[in-house]
Amino acid sequence: MFSSIRNLFSRPQPVFNDEWRPILVQDFEHWQTLSDEEIGRMEMLVAGFFHSTRWEAANGFQLDDEIKVLISAQASMLLLGIELDNYPQLTSVIVHPSTVRLRGKYNMGGGVQSTEVPPLLGQAHFRGPVVLSWNAALRGAKFPAAGENVVYHEFAHRLDMLDGVTDGTPPLDDEEARLRWARVCTAAYDTVRAQGSEVLRPYAGTNPAEFFAVATEVFFNRPVAVREHEPELYEELRAFYHQDPASRIAI
Ligand SMILES: [Zn+2]
Repeated sequence: MFSSIRNLFSRPQPVFNDEWRPILVQDFEHWQTLSDEEIGRMEMLVAGFFHSTRWEAANGFQLDDEIKVLISAQASMLLLGIELDNYPQLTSVIVHPSTVRLRGKYNMGGGVQSTEVPPLLGQAHFRGPVVLSWNAALRGAKFPAAGENVVYHEFAHRLDMLDGVTDGTPPLDDEEARLRWARVCTAAYDTVRAQGSEVLRPYAGTNPAEFFAVATEVFFNRPVAVREHEPELYEELRAFYHQDPASRIAI
């Protein structure tokens, strides 16, 4: 009797398809830097993300397994060291072939509104979908040295949103950690706005939420440079993500 009840409630674990491995080895540069233990957890996360996500293609675009697995793996990188196996309240991932064109009013600043919304590479909606450009997602997977990664960027926003506010501070362990995070990030944010940065592109100075998303991109993509130029910021991100990407890079 109990075993039949158990069968009713036990869900099969999503399975990592062996055919995904060569795709990841070839096109996701960061896959090559992971230890065997990390690959084991990543395969579990990738399988979970791949199978549990509602995938949608925009503009008549066709999605295949290569697209889904490369997006799944990049989204999973952010979860590798934290105690979260998926992104709560993610309703779907919508993939556009190149840039994402949205309709509506765009605030140009200074009180001026335009109906011409500039093309985007991605967007993360609060308790909604994440929208991504496949061109940009593939470029981010293959060429991390360029510094940018739209999947890391948008899913960093999702982590920021976990506590209900998109303010550049994801959920942290305690008050001490929150105070330290605020001190370090505010100082780095003010510096980017005032004089730019060796590692953070100017978009990081848009607001604290964009600062965290851009900082996440360079933390994973140019970790040695971030550790050198922004050591305190590197330490905050290392503590949050429980990953030390600079140590994976052979110097
Ligand atoms: Zn953003």
